[in-house]
Amino acid sequence: DRVRIHTALLSVSDKTGIVELAQALVSQGVTLFSTGGTHKAIATAGLPVTDVSDVTGFPEIMDGRVKTLHPNVHGGLLAIRDDAEHKAAMEEHGIQGIDLAVINLYPFEEVRAAGGDYPTTVENIDIGGPAMIRASAKNHAYVTVVTDPSDYGALVEALKEQNGETTYAFRQKLAAKAYARTAAYDTAISNWFAEALDIATPQYRTIGGVLKEEMRYGENPHQSAGFYVTGDDRPGVATAKLLQGKQLSYNNINDTDGAFELIGEFSPEKAPACAIIKHANPCGVATAPSLKEAYLRALACDSTSAFGGIIALNQLLDGETAEEIVKLFTEVIIAPEVSDEARAVIARKPNLRLLVTGGLPDPRSRGITAKTVAGGLLVQSRDNGMIEDLDLRVVTKRQPTAVELEDMKFAYRVAKHVKSNAIVYAKDGQTAGIGAGQMSRIDSARIAALKAEDAAKAMGWAEPLTKGSAVASEAFFPFADGLLSAIGAGATAVIQPGGSMRDAEVIAAADEHDVAMVFTGMRHFRH
Ligand code: 5GP
Repeated sequence: DRVRIHTALLSVSDKTGIVELAQALVSQGVTLFSTGGTHKAIATAGLPVTDVSDVTGFPEIMDGRVKTLHPNVHGGLLAIRDDAEHKAAMEEHGIQGIDLAVINLYPFEEVRAAGGDYPTTVENIDIGGPAMIRASAKNHAYVTVVTDPSDYGALVEALKEQNGETTYAFRQKLAAKAYARTAAYDTAISNWFAEALDIATPQYRTIGGVLKEEMRYGENPHQSAGFYVTGDDRPGVATAKLLQGKQLSYNNINDTDGAFELIGEFSPEKAPACAIIKHANPCGVATAPSLKEAYLRALACDSTSAFGGIIALNQLLDGETAEEIVKLFTEVIIAPEVSDEARAVIARKPNLRLLVTGGLPDPRSRGITAKTVAGGLLVQSRDNGMIEDLDLRVVTKRQPTAVELEDMKFAYRVAKHVKSNAIVYAKDGQTAGIGAGQMSRIDSARIAALKAEDAAKAMGWAEPLTKGSAVASEAFFPFADGLLSAIGAGATAVIQPGGSMRDAEVIAAADEHDVAMVFTGMRHFRH
């Protein structure tokens, strides 16, 4: 299963280590072929190398769009060396076998990440490179294909140890890596296209990413895990900078994502906002005139659950807010920016992870979300519906007051980020109680009210914040019971999508209690 390498084709955009590799190959007696820029680099180092134009009998044309797309190259890569017919074809057409292909691609991903304009990005779609990589990898029975400069060392070692030969197992592994590379490359191209054309339809998108890091374990210690990045430059956990603290765990990443997507709904121009997340659900969200106050109000909602939570902020983390945050055990802080003063405060807690994103995610941005099911992937466009864009319809006799309307919108924005069934009470720009993930809506309403009572006790308030609050339900009330439970807890205003068969019953119940109710017409299930 060993194959001797006589000839190699080197064609690389990233020239890292290529001269050293060429040197090692030449010393093994390998004949080198190369494309323009790579040829120049190797020849300049004084090494013998033949231009691929001499192999194809064709110059590179069309600004390099066509360099290696030729039967002499692809025949040389694809030929089954001991097949009589293939051998005859090689002889007839003067095709020489190519035993080693060292290729890396036009830097499409880098150009995309750097925000290259449309024509520049298109020009960086490599055509000949992937074709050669795929051809070589298919023919791994005979051909060695190297697509990653970090594998040059292993190749040189193998050739030295094995007398200029590679083993089948070695070639197989490199072939597997080669297809992973071309798949990731095409994924990046298709996703760039969907974004450039602003197409959110999942059918135009591809799920795939590049392994950013391996985690110690997954959701539980017996599960392995990795974090893959898709190249989407949306500010968030994938692109954030970790300024201090240990590597993020699987659960940290998941929860931090939930926290930051939620806080992205709160424009920093309007008011400072803070969200505290536990197990991907918010346990407190608040806006306030200062960030410190927003944090304290978010914390007041459920200070028990906030222990070991994730804190997301919609603007620069300042020193006085940091001073409050470090009083309680927190896993992660994520913010667009951080002041020097706050950094110094956080540094006192070396295990506290501090992530800085440079900005907030646009809640209206498109994109996709996905989850696996047995044997499949469920893919959908992001839930980018926003209350500001909706046609709110008052369905009760009583109109909401201006204050109630603000609290309704606030509660609805939070409810969108709470696992269904979600009930969120809010008063004066802070959550009063959150009921998440129950199988019945009335249970979520009860739990949220109970949480509000606990908060009142813990804070020494005369009554829970649910008294005189607005309540949001992320999906319609199927019966009046959930609504009546919320009214029992003190809610005076209700916001929900509407659309139930029993809407009339629910509206009548609201009217009976002089409660104002608004229909949004948009559901925000989150399972
Ligand atoms: P060089 O710097 O050697 O001139 O070009 C190397 C790059 O060209 C590599 O990234 C390789 O994948 C790419 N390449 C090789 N052949 C072709 C081809 O026929 N068409 C295109 N578009 N790219 C090619």
